[in-house]
Amino acid sequence: TLYNEVQDLKGTIRVYCRVRPFLQEQKDTQSTVDYIGENGDIMIVNPFKKEKEARKIFTFNKVFAQNVSQEQIYVDTQPVIRSVLDGFNVCIFAYGQTGSGKTYTMSGPDLMTETTWGVNYRALRDLFHLSNARKHVVAYEIGVQMIEIYNEQLHILFDVFLDYLLTLDIRNNSQLNGLNVPDASLVPVSSTRDVLDWMRIGQKNRAVGATALNERSSRSHSVLTVHVQGKELVSGSILRGCLHLVDLAGSERVEKSEAVGERLKEAQHINKSLSALGDVISALAQKSSHVPYRNSKLTQVLQDSLGGQAKTLMFVHINPEVNAVGETISTLKFAQRVA
Ligand code: ADP
Ligand code: MG
Repeated sequence: TLYNEVQDLKGTIRVYCRVRPFLQEQKDTQSTVDYIGENGDIMIVNPFKKEKEARKIFTFNKVFAQNVSQEQIYVDTQPVIRSVLDGFNVCIFAYGQTGSGKTYTMSGPDLMTETTWGVNYRALRDLFHLSNARKHVVAYEIGVQMIEIYNEQLHILFDVFLDYLLTLDIRNNSQLNGLNVPDASLVPVSSTRDVLDWMRIGQKNRAVGATALNERSSRSHSVLTVHVQGKELVSGSILRGCLHLVDLAGSERVEKSEAVGERLKEAQHINKSLSALGDVISALAQKSSHVPYRNSKLTQVLQDSLGGQAKTLMFVHINPEVNAVGETISTLKFAQRVA
């Protein structure tokens, strides 16, 4: 690789845990987070259990407490992101129950406010900045693509029939190592402004109202992919890297008795795809010879960016409220399995 700033992260799977703060109206609420240790430990206390069985410790690469800012989160994400410009493939996932802060981490609360931008926009801003700084050595081209997976079906969110759009057929995924999406559209971007414009178009293409959008987004996986191609000016050699930023569907279990019809179908698809993702990542973590990519659309789509030289970072989110403790523990168990 041309610039190897991140050798220490090569081929690794990392898991970061982020604790959502209490929201405005809940300031004095009891927290299930008992303590957060220096070395990635988090202790959860379950007030519904007997004293002896109430406490559980989980260990991750890092744990971010409630007061950690978007900027601090990005500092610990940046080395993995930047490796894309060296030709690595990277997947960053946001996992957790609905309302635990996945979208906050990935996108932020509001597109227009840079200070609270999430990983997505900070990553793109950083990639533009760094590719520009390297432009006398490497000529980079950057493109983005946004897809949604809902009920195991793939939807492409940028419209292909807009005529100023550059479409690339990426069925031949050896060309564009990264994403197995047939006929997907990839739009060239050169600034964060371009990206924000496309995000708005992508949102519009979901063609649903704001409340429906929220509901829908908690039941679908959304994948923002950044493709990078760099041509080394002296040697003429080409490198390609891919960054997938994945805001997963809510991980909450739905009681069979509660869900019927469409909602039950959604819940089954979500369960299936999240456990398939867990299986893939834990197979990779254990260096297993069989990695079960074929069990869900999500893992199929990301196959070329999971495993091998690729880097994976999973943010698991927890909601510290007492009434969320069951989901918190199952989220942390899921994460422990892949860590
Ligand atoms: P999810 O995408 O997991 O359903 P959201 O990201 O939408 O959850 O977060 C739920 C609510 O909590 C939102 O109102 C969001 O702005 C707020 N929130 C989440 N994480 C944070 C945080 N780290 N700091 C401040 N507010 C947060
Ligand atoms: Mg969300």
